[in-house]
Amino acid sequence: MKSNKGKIYIVGAGPGDPELISVKGFKVLKRADCILYDFLSAPELLDHAKPACEKICVGKKDSLHLKEQEETNKLLMDKVLVHEVVVRLKGGDPFVFSRGSEEARHLREMGIEVEVIPGITSAFAGPLSFGIPLTVKGMIQSVAVITGRKKDINAEIEAPECGTLVYLMAVANISNVVKALMKSGRSKDTPCAFIERATRRNERIIAATIGTIEEKAKRESIKPPAVFIVGEVVNYNEGRTKHEH
Ligand code: SAH
Repeated sequence: MKSNKGKIYIVGAGPGDPELISVKGFKVLKRADCILYDFLSAPELLDHAKPACEKICVGKKDSLHLKEQEETNKLLMDKVLVHEVVVRLKGGDPFVFSRGSEEARHLREMGIEVEVIPGITSAFAGPLSFGIPLTVKGMIQSVAVITGRKKDINAEIEAPECGTLVYLMAVANISNVVKALMKSGRSKDTPCAFIERATRRNERIIAATIGTIEEKAKRESIKPPAVFIVGEVVNYNEGRTKHEH
């Protein structure tokens, strides 16, 4: 095998506010010779790259597959042969509902040096941006992060016994998510909310109950990216966080 020149950093870009990337991730971003990125909630981060940095979008926007995963893996391999610092920038945390872990494994198997830098996931930052805690001491003591969309569109959505449920990728499939919640025995009065474009300046929250959310989300035309949170925590709003971006 060819001996590679550089190192690949798989970096979490955070949920949307560009200041919510880690200091470690930001430092690497500024040193990058090449950045491969998805459709980011914080595109401004790319402005901090060196002028000579090569920036490549490899994102997938739902059905629009700009680059298949294999192509991305190959591109990463190619770039690490010619560059010293290659950054794979991914929204939120790079290992939460993303292919970051598959990319890391593939690269390591190919003998490439990889470092993974965590990011703040939208699953946690989204609710917090509107002051919603995920747990409440002595009352709500567990939280699950769940996909609202499965590869097999007919596969059942999970709704585990848990104090708080946070669904990602649930906008288009909200009727099946609601069905799963009802089937798990939750009352239709259970509080829930969609949080759209969390931590961006134009973020918004649509709060309802699981009996009314589907219709309300449609009426308010909620669009991805949005997190869907279910549980009593929705009523524990502690006040909103300000975001400048
Ligand atoms: N790794 C990412 C998740 C990737 S899956 C993370 O840790 O955040 C993509 C889903 O994340 C979207 O469908 C949406 O549910 C959620 N998401 C990402 N950014 C978001 C944002 N700014 N506001 C609300 N939801 C967001």
